[in-house]
Parts: sequence; C-alpha cells; structure tokens
Amino acid sequence: MHAMIERAGGQAVRIPAGKLLIDGRWYDAADGKTIAVHDPATEEKIADIAAASAADVDRAVEAAHRTFESPAWQRMRPLDRGRLLERLALLVERDAEELARLETLDNGKPYGVSRNVDMKFAVDALRYYAGWSSKMAGEYIALSPFVDDGGTYRAYTERKPVGVVAGITPWNFPMGQAVQKIAPALAFGCTIVVKPSEEASLTTLRLGELILEAGIPDGAVNIVTGYGHDAGQALVDHPLVRKITFTGSTATGQKILESSARTMKRVTLELGGKSPTIILADADLDKAIPGAANAIFPNSGQVCTAGSRLFIDASIYEDVTRGVVEIARDLRLGSGFDPASQLGPLISARQLERVAALVDSGVEEGAEPLCGAGREDRKGYFFKPTVLGRGRADMRITREEVFGPVVLAMPFDNIREIRALANDTVYGLGASIWTRDLNNAHLLASQIDTGTVWINTHNVLDTAMPFGGTKLSGLGREFGSEAIHAYTEPRAVCMRLEFGDAG
Ligand code: NDP
Repeated sequence: MHAMIERAGGQAVRIPAGKLLIDGRWYDAADGKTIAVHDPATEEKIADIAAASAADVDRAVEAAHRTFESPAWQRMRPLDRGRLLERLALLVERDAEELARLETLDNGKPYGVSRNVDMKFAVDALRYYAGWSSKMAGEYIALSPFVDDGGTYRAYTERKPVGVVAGITPWNFPMGQAVQKIAPALAFGCTIVVKPSEEASLTTLRLGELILEAGIPDGAVNIVTGYGHDAGQALVDHPLVRKITFTGSTATGQKILESSARTMKRVTLELGGKSPTIILADADLDKAIPGAANAIFPNSGQVCTAGSRLFIDASIYEDVTRGVVEIARDLRLGSGFDPASQLGPLISARQLERVAALVDSGVEEGAEPLCGAGREDRKGYFFKPTVLGRGRADMRITREEVFGPVVLAMPFDNIREIRALANDTVYGLGASIWTRDLNNAHLLASQIDTGTVWINTHNVLDTAMPFGGTKLSGLGREFGSEAIHAYTEPRAVCMRLEFGDAG
C-alpha cells in the first residue's frame, strides 16, 4: 500500500506505507501509534509513520539476534554477503530518481542534490562495503612462552562480527546515513536494527522494501521508526544489542554512551561540529571565497562538518567577507522540486527556531549581521543564508553548533594564532585550510585537532577515507579500513603444537 503525491513538474512521489520492518515483514506499531510527517517546504502533512514502542523494538532486536545466530547467516560466504550488497546497490541505482524525489519531499533538499549527492553516496557506499565483505583477515602470531615445555606455541586472530548492531540516524542525510550503518554491518557479518529520525524516515522505509527485493535474509535488517526517547532509547538499553552506531547531536551521543555502559555495548558516535574554515593571506581567493561559502551553505548548513567558523587573515578580511556575502545573497531558496532552487528549508519548525535564536544571540552579543539573519517571509522552514562579521570566541554562536546556513567570520593577524583559535572549541570534526603555500598547509594541518583536515577544499567525504571526530565530536571512525574495527572484534586463538610419536 503506497500513497501517491503529485509534486512540481508533475512527478509523482510514492510514499511507503508507515510500517515497521521486522524479520522480513511489515507491521504496524504494536500499540497502533503513529507520527505525522510534514513537508518542510510547505508545512503540509504528507504521511504517517509508525511510532515504535519498546515492545516493537524488542521484537526487532530478537529477530536480528535470531538471524545472527542462525547457521544460514553464520555460514554464509563473505563473498555472498557482498553480492547481496551489490544487488541492493543495483536496486538503489535503478530507483534513484524515485528515491531522490522522496528524500526531497521528506527532507526538503533540492532534488538535484538528493539525486546526485545523497543517492550517489548510497550506491557508492553499498558497493564499497560489498568489496570489504571478503577482506576480513586476522594475523598469525609467533609466541614466546615463559616455560619451555617442548611444545611450540602459535596464535592467530580472527575478526568476529560484534553481533546485533543498532543504527540510529539523523535527518540531514537520511538515506546516506541509513546505508552508512547498514552496509558495513552486513559486510562484516553483523545484523542490524535501524532507527531513523522521526523527522525523515521515508527513504529508509523505501530502502527496507529494496532490502527485501534484494533477497537479504529476513531479520538481517530491521527498521523501527519512532521517537528517539522511546524507540531509540529502547534500542540503546536492549541487552541483545552489542553495538550502537549513532550519528546526531553531541547531547544525545553523550546520553547514549552513558546508557550503553550498563550493558558495555561497543559504541561509535559521529556527533556535532564547529568546523573552522581558515583562509590565509596567500590563498587563491577565486577559489577560497566560493570554497568558504560552499563549506557552510549546502544542505542549508545542516551538515556536521559545515565550516561555521570562518577565520580570515586580517589583510583580506573585507574582500573575503564581501565575496561570501555576495554568494549568500545570490542563493535561491525554494522548494526542492523547483529546478531553480539552490537551498531548501530547514528540517522543522523546531530547527528553524533553534537557528533563529542562535543568530539573535550572536547579534545581541555584538556580531555584525552582514546578510540574511532571519527567516524567509514565506511558508516553509526557510532561513536566509547568513554571514555574521566580527565574531568573538566567547559568543554563544561561536561555541554552539548552529546546524543552519550561518557562518561567523573572524579576522586573525598572524598564522601562529591559528592553532589556538581553531582548537578553541569542544568539537573536533573537520577543518579546512586555504593557502598556496605547502609549508603553511601541512604545518597547520598537523596542529588542528580534528578528525579530518581539508586543504583547499571542504566537505569532501569518501567511504575510502576514515571519518569521525575528536573531543565532543565523537568516538571511533566510520569508513575506510577503520570500519572493520567498528563492526568486528579480534578473537585470539592460542595453540600448543607438538609432533606426535610418529614424529
Ligand atoms: P538528535 O541527536 O536528538 O537525533 C539524532 C537521532 O537520535 C534521531 O534518530 C533521534 O530520534 C535519536 N535519539 C534522540 N534521543 C535518543 C535517545 N535517548 N536514545 C536513542 N536515540 C535517540 O538530534 P536532533 O534531531 O534533536 O537535532 C538537534 C541538533 O543536533 C541539531 O540542531 C544539530 O546541531 C545536531 N545534529 C547533528 C547531526 C550530525 O550529523 N552530527 C545530525 C542531526 C542533528 P528522534 O529524531 O526521533 O528524536
């Protein structure tokens, strides 16, 4: 059962039924509760999703556990798990346009972005992890025993999947985040229960349909929609969940880490950021100015690595801020279905209020509003691209993650100040340095305390490159060869070898 909605350009958007995927079948929430979903561009209700309770979560985790323990899953050849992921990649590719329309309807981002960034990332990530499934390897180790008992000691390690994983995802890249959790879990032999944000669950539900079509075994992937404090917390507390992989706010990440201590779950946290964009006096401004704008405005600033603190050499401060303001003023806000739109709305009224309140606090504390600094006078949760000048380290807006199209510009006088300025934050997710000087680029890159440093670019993510944060930006890494550590544990097997009588 799918509802159809007509959107701009006469393109139909098919809305998946609001049910929970448990053990290969779709169910309503046990207590029948639902949550209304709204289009952030029009504020109109578009669908209802199921609001899972602890009872539903328990059934989903039990199913994931049963599948994980089943001989069929345990004996499945790693290459065959990879083939399932490859099959899913082909299905996402086949339906990419429809999925992109659904993402735009639910999240608000421009269709071109949903199609060419979000869906492309999802397909790439599925393929990338499909390859990893057959690359799990341990070590063979020569031991040095304390006592010579005539035997020879050897050991080896094997990488064992951790077991049932809970994947909790946010609303800024819903499809990409769901794949980011599901693909490595399956590649490395785990099973998973996914809880998408209730603000944007629709593409994850549609992905669930494709997961069934791909022939992924029942119970290997389960999807429970619902509220974080309810369904999310039940997952975090469930004793059969062995690992949590979470992307979202630092506050929720801290809560999850605290709760998971009771059952000693493995935890990967990809949290907030306050990433600096640093422009040195020798930078190529034709690239650095659009680069700084591009670091903050795409996805309406709802990007964890968004370059929200813009540090500019004082000698070029006026030129850079003028250039970024011009770009911000030219950006066209509108429905994601209008091909002319470059920025969509924020996800919700709540997010719009948060962003507006933080910008107001910045202006009250002395930041200079150079453009934007308010909501658009129209229906939908649109906030104008905003540049605030003359920021200071002690302002609330400099310290808290805004998660909106808002950048705070700050001048510096000397390259030697940058280390202290850039690191003066509780976060450590990303940073970019814009310069033509290799010495400056690499020396600064080594001084900045973040999980990723970009040079003359920003926000380039690739599943081959480890991703995660230092300090309050998170724990552990996703992507690249690091992912194997997040979803598997080494088991050491120690043996004593000795020739028998015949030897
Ligand atoms: P949250 O961190 O609260 O939400 C992220 C996910 O966690 C959602 O699926 C949410 O469910 C779930 N969740 C919430 N509480 C719990 C819990 N106790 N146990 C388990 N899961 C839980 O982010 P918000 O949506 O509240 O956004 C607030 C701010 O967080 C933003 O303004 C932004 O600063 C930051 N953020 C950062 C992101 C990033 O990529 N680093 C992504 C999203 C937000 P539900 O939505 O149902 O509450």
